[in-house]
Amino acid sequence: MTTKTTVESHNSMFDAVLARLDVAAKIYGLSEEVTQVLRNPQKQVKVSLPIIMDDGKLQVFEGYRTIHSTVLGPSKGGIRYAMDVCDDEVKALSAWMTFKCAVANLPYGGGKGGIKCDPRKMSVGELERLTKAYTIAMADVFGPTKDIPAPDMGTSGREMAWLVEAYNKVHRGNFPGVTTGKPVGIGGSLGRDAATGRGVMVATLAALKKMNLDPKKSTCAVQGFGNVGSHAARLLNEKGIRICAIGDHTITLWNEKGIDIRAALEYAKANGNVLKGFTGGTEINASELLTADVDVLVPAALQNVITEEIAHNIKAKLIIEGANGPTTPEADAILQDKHIIVVPDILANGGGVTVSYFEWVQNNQGYYWTEDEVNSKHDASMESAFEEVWLNRNHYKTTMRIGAYISALKKVELGIKARGHY
Ligand code: NAD
Repeated sequence: MTTKTTVESHNSMFDAVLARLDVAAKIYGLSEEVTQVLRNPQKQVKVSLPIIMDDGKLQVFEGYRTIHSTVLGPSKGGIRYAMDVCDDEVKALSAWMTFKCAVANLPYGGGKGGIKCDPRKMSVGELERLTKAYTIAMADVFGPTKDIPAPDMGTSGREMAWLVEAYNKVHRGNFPGVTTGKPVGIGGSLGRDAATGRGVMVATLAALKKMNLDPKKSTCAVQGFGNVGSHAARLLNEKGIRICAIGDHTITLWNEKGIDIRAALEYAKANGNVLKGFTGGTEINASELLTADVDVLVPAALQNVITEEIAHNIKAKLIIEGANGPTTPEADAILQDKHIIVVPDILANGGGVTVSYFEWVQNNQGYYWTEDEVNSKHDASMESAFEEVWLNRNHYKTTMRIGAYISALKKVELGIKARGHY
């Protein structure tokens, strides 16, 4: 019998994090003091960024950075460019980073940042000015030993290169370790681009093994065809898993015989990184992908897509959370009742931050590794994190999500107690 993980309904993303934290803290027996520390982010910074747009007019953007914890090391976490970036979202994502880094056994705390903007409607010049203005505003927050950003939704290696350039100008030196996810050639690591998708693949294979399912006889649906989704679909396919559904914000496609993922990747690359117009499957509704008749479901796009209603209709036996926060806490309880295994975001998408850590190590030592070295270190790290969470799941008779939180809480608790108070 598993311990129920039902939580109170919540109004915000940060509340959803706290809901899971509270459940895990209770099952694990975390002290009230340590729980209190983790319920409150360490630092929150909000800046206003006036930018001259291409039409010569000035527009003011809001920029955020939240440092949830530096108990286990400098804070680590991406920068998101999207219209729904807000205080609550950045807080939630920063807390997840604390737990994700701890689950992956990295010497990092958690942070997250973002700018409220629509990058698809901005020119390259506008995005460069905005990124550099944001970096200058955060020049005392960021730092290779303090707070280390990375790309997230709406940002990529291009923005990280601008960030390093602006940071170097302010601090008058060369600090490649101030951010990760940089292009290879200016301090980026081989293997970083595909790392989150690779971690999703490793977690999927590990879970299928525990479930005694053969990958070569398994089918899968992947929501999102950006950095995480496209690499995950490709790598899962290379391991023999049949990808029957893929989708992005422009179209969702189904093909029972399996979608030709290489052709889809080539099509997206040649067509502005979107799938619209790709003819390798029949068009279906976005929600049909989530409830498709497949063995494995990989949500790798947005948060809160697996709601109570969707959860009731999910047919997959295994969910691998490539995206951050794709499942609502209310849906968790339904999935648990249906005995669907959910490999949670803080474990399943930890491959990205793991290789970010390897990038930072390479920057700090000034010596770079081959892609095979990066990939084999990554796979070993993901496999051991998975095993640790699986053991917690069994030991505490709970879900993998709560097992992952417990894995993180044990390490963060140790750090908080060892450092003492003042
Ligand atoms: P991305 O911007 O590269 O891609 C996002 C994808 O989602 C795109 O294909 C987009 O079309 C699709 N999408 C957007 N709206 C959609 C909708 N309504 N329906 C279906 N698809 C939709 O972003 P990414 O880096 O792949 O990030 C995806 C998720 O993974 C986010 O939750 C992010 O926080 C998380 N994540 C990313 C990384 C990383 O290394 N990139 C690491 C950990 C977690």
